[in-house]
Amino acid sequence: MDAAKPSVVYRYKNGLYVNLTNRCPTACVFCVKNAWKMDYRGSNLDLSGAEPSPAEIIALAGKEWAAAPFEELVFCGFGEPTMRLEALLTTARLVKRGKAPPIPPATRVRLNTNGLANAVWGRNVVPEMKGLIDSVHVSLNTSDPAQWAALMRPMEPWAATGFEKVKEFIREASLLLPETFATAVEGNGVDIEQFKALAVKLGAEPRVRPRLDEEGA
Ligand code: SF4
Repeated sequence: MDAAKPSVVYRYKNGLYVNLTNRCPTACVFCVKNAWKMDYRGSNLDLSGAEPSPAEIIALAGKEWAAAPFEELVFCGFGEPTMRLEALLTTARLVKRGKAPPIPPATRVRLNTNGLANAVWGRNVVPEMKGLIDSVHVSLNTSDPAQWAALMRPMEPWAATGFEKVKEFIREASLLLPETFATAVEGNGVDIEQFKALAVKLGAEPRVRPRLDEEGA
């Protein structure tokens, strides 16, 4: 892939990742987009405002599939995918309804998110994801609201209520979607046992990941 040209899709491990947007309602202390200068392992994820359409994404993903099939399509870039909820759902719908040949409808679709979609959109958006998103990984990070605000650094509109809305999102996802993980980044002074207990209480499977690993939402 040409590192100078913005990458709308990029490969990582067995997945094809979709870089929907660079917009994000948080500025997480562990986000690597600035330190890595918007480069993710050789792919330039700086869209410079040129957010891709679902048709463009499907065309590029189809070419990637034809070159080498991937196991899952993952919405995750240097930005929060649910900031473009309609584009996210439309793209997933095209895949799941068999309208994205040669990509098979059975291809697993995953969303990596900071979990603020319900807060940003002012409604419970999880039911809209049912049947379209197979797996969701929510960056919860801690069981402590003050620590959440310190780690995630949400924009002002979501500073006070964001943590509760993320918990609500996880609860809803665990009820409606096939697979829900709550993730935390190692270090950061987080009480990992408390984090895991909260994840389980919300209905999610906890997952602790190393810093500077699979970043993006
Ligand atoms: S890690 Fe993800 S959610 Fe956090 S600021 Fe970076 S892009 Fe946004």
